[in-house]
Amino acid sequence: MVGEPQADCVFCKIVSGDIPATVVRETERTLTFRDISPQAPTHLLVVPRTHHADAAELAAAEPGTAAELLTEAGAAAAGEGLAAYRLIFNTGAEAGQTVFHAHVHVLGGKPLTEGLV
Ligand code: C5P
Repeated sequence: MVGEPQADCVFCKIVSGDIPATVVRETERTLTFRDISPQAPTHLLVVPRTHHADAAELAAAEPGTAAELLTEAGAAAAGEGLAAYRLIFNTGAEAGQTVFHAHVHVLGGKPLTEGLV
């Protein structure tokens, strides 16, 4: 069923607590944790608790949760003391998506002015 946990999904396992993660924020619908392989001094991931393959699928199925990813990203950035930050939704393997459970990267703590890719 749409949104149900997937046995082979690493973020579903983080949401359920089966795989550890450093969680910095939680809401009823989302979880925010530190990326295990940080690409910037601050690198967080905000994920929905429900399983959707990417952000567009999440937005189609649960627009309120999709919006909450953004408010949680902003709150997490503020919690990290970031005045500026970048949000990234990799969508599709050729765009660098490796975990097919919707998520937004929150990156900051260094200048990010070199371009988008
Ligand atoms: O956008 P993409 O799918 O590539 O992002 C997945 C992210 O999940 C990676 O940055 C990876 O480091 C992170 N990850 C994690 N903890 C895991 C597995 C992956 O933070 N256990």
